[in-house]
Amino acid sequence: MTSEESVLASVPKQLYIGGEWRDATGGATFEVEDPATGKTLCSVADASPEDAVAALDAAVAAQAGWAATPPNERSEILHRAFLALGERSEELALLMTLEMGKAVAESKGEIAYAAEFFRWFSGEALRLDGYYKTTGNGQSRVLVMRQPVGPCYFITPWNFPNAMGTRKIGPAIAAGCTMVVKPAHQTPLSMLALAKVLAECGLPPGVLNVITAMRSGEVSAPIIGDPRLRKLSFTGSTQIGKKLIAQAADQVLRVSMELGGNAPFLVFADADLDAAVEGAMLAKMRNMGEACTSANRFHVHESVAEEFAAKLAARMGALTVGRGTEDGTDVGPLIDETQQGKVAELVEDAVAKGATAITGGTKGEGDGYFYTPTVLTGVTPDAKVLVEEIFGPVAPIATFGTDEEAIAAANRTEYGLVAYVYTRDLSRAFRVCEALETGMIGLNQGIVSNAGAPFGGVKQSGTGREGGNEGIAEYLDTKYVAINV
Ligand code: NAP
Repeated sequence: MTSEESVLASVPKQLYIGGEWRDATGGATFEVEDPATGKTLCSVADASPEDAVAALDAAVAAQAGWAATPPNERSEILHRAFLALGERSEELALLMTLEMGKAVAESKGEIAYAAEFFRWFSGEALRLDGYYKTTGNGQSRVLVMRQPVGPCYFITPWNFPNAMGTRKIGPAIAAGCTMVVKPAHQTPLSMLALAKVLAECGLPPGVLNVITAMRSGEVSAPIIGDPRLRKLSFTGSTQIGKKLIAQAADQVLRVSMELGGNAPFLVFADADLDAAVEGAMLAKMRNMGEACTSANRFHVHESVAEEFAAKLAARMGALTVGRGTEDGTDVGPLIDETQQGKVAELVEDAVAKGATAITGGTKGEGDGYFYTPTVLTGVTPDAKVLVEEIFGPVAPIATFGTDEEAIAAANRTEYGLVAYVYTRDLSRAFRVCEALETGMIGLNQGIVSNAGAPFGGVKQSGTGREGGNEGIAEYLDTKYVAINV
């Protein structure tokens, strides 16, 4: 068998419920596609709403025992899983590339990033705290304890099939919560492989349950509507996030929402342009542009815009587009035909309104959903590419004159996930950072994701934080006891 075949064969294709791998009701399955060829890779179980409830039953049954499991044990399972992901990085990366498309080197980067959440939260499991204090009048005492929220439901997207899972699973395990996870239908295999790793690392049955499904709305509704569920955490589009927040209102669930972005990348006249181009390549091309943190639009000071555009186009134009499994590939296919069509349409719209594609601007060759790395200059304010999340390898460049114009342009969006700022002027850097309406900022840096930092957005990019000191709080309830002494 080739390694592709053996990696595919090694992944369970069933639902993982209560520590057992089982078929979906009636043996229903759906097909998983390779976006580089458009061909079917394999089939996986297609959960029914009844299967979804069975997964929640298992999470509920395991909750009390898991909450009572010593923090040392929860921490050690996470640490073993951190090491295991590192040891199996090659096979997990290949699996991810097969179903998602990105180059194997990038998939390995994601496995390393995903594993970091297990390392970080294995430490956090040992630092769950509370406090005790005397009230102001000295007459009673305040005892504050933190307790696991309870059974959680996680819905994850296809763009980071492993890391968007571990960002939720890691803190839930650390805090003592059980969970049901539903990955995106395009990339179920990475999550099934992750469940297998966690089981092998000693995670007890029922703590993590995985359902794969084509009808995500139908299988999610009974879980979200079930009074035994305590928390919903979602990573995906703002459009679906809004629907889920409305559904979660019925049970007054705690919600964490990691939603869409429209990140501005600001380059001021005093910036180190080579560093800015380097940062732009990371911020734009990580994951082929299919990241919520992707630089969606470049606002560059008019005095340096031409030079920046030429340098960026030279770097973007030199990238090799191809199947992610092939050596030398920098840029894999987009996830599917719909996404490829959307990127093409945004570029056509910008060009029709006066922009110029100084590199790229076309679909790639072959049966897969490729799109060539593209730099657009002279993008007009009415171009859709500046307003909508592109999710592809396209860098539209617009210009500004003053700092105020740059800040106003950056904030002209309903999103507020991340922004990138390139300047060597310290006062300007602080002024701009304070004025930007975002949850995160890359200051002279093209990447912000880090397990030890609070990831998340403001405005319609979401609510809640994943990672950092804040990440564990999403999985803990605060209980206060007033003590009469
Ligand atoms: P999506 O369409 O919102 O899907 C995300 C997940 O939600 C998938 O598992 C999907 O399952 C599921 N889903 C869709 N409709 C649902 C429903 N009615 N009920 C319950 N679940 C439902 O987003 P996407 O296109 O896969 O992902 C891209 C989006 O995610 C972008 O907007 C990106 O910015 C955002 N994102 C945000 C972050 C962040 O941390 N802020 C990180 C990564 C991605 P099916 O697809 O299988 O139906």
